[in-house]
Amino acid sequence: MEIRRFFVDKSAVADGKIVVKGDEFLHMTKVLRYKVGFKAIVCANDGVENYCTIEEIGKDYAILKIDESVVADRKNVSLTLYAGLLKNNKLDLVIQKAVELGVDRVVPFISLNSAETKFSRERGERIALEAAKQCGSAYLSKVGELESFEQVVAEIKNYDKVLFAYEGERENNIKTSDLTGQNIALIVGCEGGFKPEEMRLAKDKGAEVVTLGRRILRAETASIVLLALTLDRLGELDYD
Ligand code: SAM
Repeated sequence: MEIRRFFVDKSAVADGKIVVKGDEFLHMTKVLRYKVGFKAIVCANDGVENYCTIEEIGKDYAILKIDESVVADRKNVSLTLYAGLLKNNKLDLVIQKAVELGVDRVVPFISLNSAETKFSRERGERIALEAAKQCGSAYLSKVGELESFEQVVAEIKNYDKVLFAYEGERENNIKTSDLTGQNIALIVGCEGGFKPEEMRLAKDKGAEVVTLGRRILRAETASIVLLALTLDRLGELDYD
């Protein structure tokens, strides 16, 4: 039987035990109908997979004993994707693929050409949780609150490197980008793309503007491609 994966906060792990509460508790005991003695993998967002046995099931909590802890994935770089909000819930696909590829955080934003203005963070977090379980990730990627483009630009200074995918860029591509650093961010526009003044604002704040080639990619394609290119350069797509 496949051992299912659950995610908790680091605070839930202490003295060789893990306490599972909330939605993950409900999923474990009401949906999967797990009982005492059942096995589970529990991750606390530190790259460690805790192989556990359920010891106790209470009204709204389960206590699991850690049988073995395995360092599954030690990340050297934190990667944030700022993704322009998309229509018809197309950001769901971006979140799902970003989690599968190993992103740490997805932050949706609204820019001048955005057609969509509503975003459900709860929905995004649910998609991230499902994707992390499906791909066997040892981390639970975070989904941020919806931000304005001004907020995104103001956060550029917090990163060692920011790559800004701009459909009007003809020269610079990621091949020659200097990706040394612990904290990297990618910025990809919405269906309507970026205004030149938005690109200039981001560039003035230190973002490196890059092209993704001659063809205009759909926003969701551009996010996936830029994530994959960056993660590959960082060695995050190597197995070990
Ligand atoms: N409205 C734009 C146009 O028609 O020229 C298209 C925007 S594209 C659908 C959405 C976003 O994907 C862009 O803002 C950019 O961030 C990224 N993107 C798509 N194709 C790209 C390319 N060839 N080079 C760099 N970025 C690209």
